[in-house]
Amino acid sequence: MTKNLKYIFVVGGVMSGVGKGVAAAAIGKILQARGLNVTAVKIDPYVNVDAGTMNPTEHGEVFVLDDGMECDQDMGNYERFLGVNLTGRNYMTTGSIYLSVINRERSLGYGGKCVEVVPHIPLEVIDRINKAATKDKANAVIVEIGGTVGEYQNILFLEAIRMLKTKKPQDVVLVLVSYLPIRGKDNELKTKPTQYAVRTLNSAGLQPDIVIARAEVPLDKKRKQKIAYNCGLEEKDIISAPDVTSIYDIPITFEKEKIGDQLFNKLNLRPKKKDLHDFKNLARTVRSLKKPVSIGIVGKYFGTGDFILADSYISVLEAIKHAAYALKRKPVIEWVDSEELGNLDRYDGIIIPGGFGSRGIEGKLTAINFARRKKIPFFGLCYGMQLAIVEFSRSVARLKGADSTEIDAKTPHPVIDILPEQKKNLSESNYGATMRLGAWPAVLEDKTIARTAYGKEVISERHRHRYEVNPEYIQILEAKGLIFSGISPNRRLMEIMELPKKEHPFFVGTQFHPEFKSRPLTPHPLFKAFIKASIGSRK
Ligand code: GLN
Repeated sequence: MTKNLKYIFVVGGVMSGVGKGVAAAAIGKILQARGLNVTAVKIDPYVNVDAGTMNPTEHGEVFVLDDGMECDQDMGNYERFLGVNLTGRNYMTTGSIYLSVINRERSLGYGGKCVEVVPHIPLEVIDRINKAATKDKANAVIVEIGGTVGEYQNILFLEAIRMLKTKKPQDVVLVLVSYLPIRGKDNELKTKPTQYAVRTLNSAGLQPDIVIARAEVPLDKKRKQKIAYNCGLEEKDIISAPDVTSIYDIPITFEKEKIGDQLFNKLNLRPKKKDLHDFKNLARTVRSLKKPVSIGIVGKYFGTGDFILADSYISVLEAIKHAAYALKRKPVIEWVDSEELGNLDRYDGIIIPGGFGSRGIEGKLTAINFARRKKIPFFGLCYGMQLAIVEFSRSVARLKGADSTEIDAKTPHPVIDILPEQKKNLSESNYGATMRLGAWPAVLEDKTIARTAYGKEVISERHRHRYEVNPEYIQILEAKGLIFSGISPNRRLMEIMELPKKEHPFFVGTQFHPEFKSRPLTPHPLFKAFIKASIGSRK
C-alpha cells in the first residue's frame, strides 16, 4: 500500500439524490488538480453482489467497467471527472463483502477464529479500499458510501470509517454532503435537517470534518455560522454548493469555497497550487454556447409514477454533451417515448440507446426507418444497432418477419440471435455468465465512417448484451449494402455497422456502449462524428 495513503470518505445526509456522487468525483478532481494521484471507491449498501440484475428504473443506469464489472452509475462520474479507468476492485456492495468474508471462512481463511459482523465486515471493507488504492498506485482515495446516514444498511460502513479514523486520524477526512430545504414566505434556507444528520453521525462515533451544503441557492454567512456552531465545526468547513448549470462547474464552485485548502490542511499535506484550467475552459465554453443541436433519444418510457428517470441513460446524455461542447453547440436533448413517437423531423439527430425486452420495439423500428429514409443522422447503441439491423433486413433485404430472437423466438429470419456458444450457458440458467461484458477489441475496416472517426485500426469498447448479429446473415446483408465496419479479431462478432456515406450522412450502430468511455475533455470519437453530422444535417 502507498505510504501515508489519504482517505476521503463521502457520506450523505438528509436525503438522497442531491449529487453526492458528483460531489465526491469533484473532490477527487480537486485533489488531482493539486498533484495527487487519486482513485475512487464506491460502496453500495444493497445485498445484490453487483448492479447487473437491477432494474434501471429503480436504480438508474448500470455502468460497465473494462473488466466487465456491472456497477452503479457513480462509477461513471468518477471515470469522467478523474479521466481514469476503474475496475471491479473499485466497487463493492454489502452482498459482495459478505460473500467474500463467508467464502474465506469456508476455506479456513480465518484460522479457526469466530468470524463476527464487527470487526470482520468493516475490516474487509478497509482491506478492499487499500487494495484498490494499491492497484491504482493512488496516494488519495475517495470513498463514497451509498445511501444516507441513519439508514440501517450503512452502519457497518460508518463503523469502517470510525475504525480507520481512530487508527489514522491524520490520514482520514469525513465529508458530509447534506441538503438544505427552502421553507416559508421568506424562502429561508433551513439548517436543522443538516444538524440532525450530523447528530446521527455523532451517534455512530463520527464527527464530519467538512459539510457540503447542497441547496438550490448559495448559503449565506449567517447559515454557515449556524451549522458550524451547532455541529462543532468552523465556518470555513461549511462549503456552499448551490445548483449549477453544468456538473463540470462543481470543482470550480467548490474551489471558490477553498475546499482544497481545507482538505490539504486536514490531511496534513503540504499546500500545493491547483491547476484546474482544463475544467475552467470547459465551463467557459459551456456558458458561451448559443447555437443548439437537437437530439432525440427514442426509448421505452422510463417512467416511475409521474417522473421520468433520465438517470437510466446518464452516460448517453453525458456523451452527447461532451461531443456537443467540443463542437461548440448547445446540446438540446429530448426523450421520445417509443410508444408515442410524434414528429421526428424536428431533431438534428436520433439515438436509439440500449435496452432489453420487446416493449416499444415497433416504435423504435419506425424511428429507425424514418431516420434512414429521411437521411437524419442516426446512432444506435447496442439494442439500437440490433434493431437497425432488423429494420434493414425487413425493409431493404426484404427478409420478411426478420427479427431478434429476443423479441420473436420463432422468427423465420433470426438476424439477431444468441450464438451457439452462449446457448449452452443459457440452458443451464447460468445468467451471470451469458452476457458479453466489459472491454472487447474490434478491428476497423478501411475507408469507413468508424475508421475515420477513431483514426486507428484497433479499438477497445465496453459491452453488455446477450444477443449478436447472426453470422449466417452477414453476407446477405452485406450484399444489400450494409457495411460491418468493426469486427472482432476472430471475425465472428459484428461490432459496428454503418451505411455508406454517399447514401446516408451518418447511419451507424455499435454492438458496444461507446457512451461508457466518453469523457468531458476527450469526447468519444463516434459521438463526435454523430453530432458533427447532426449539425450538418440542417444545411
Ligand atoms: N437486449 C439486447 C441484448 O441482450 C441489447 C442489450 C443492450 O442494449 N445493452 O443483446
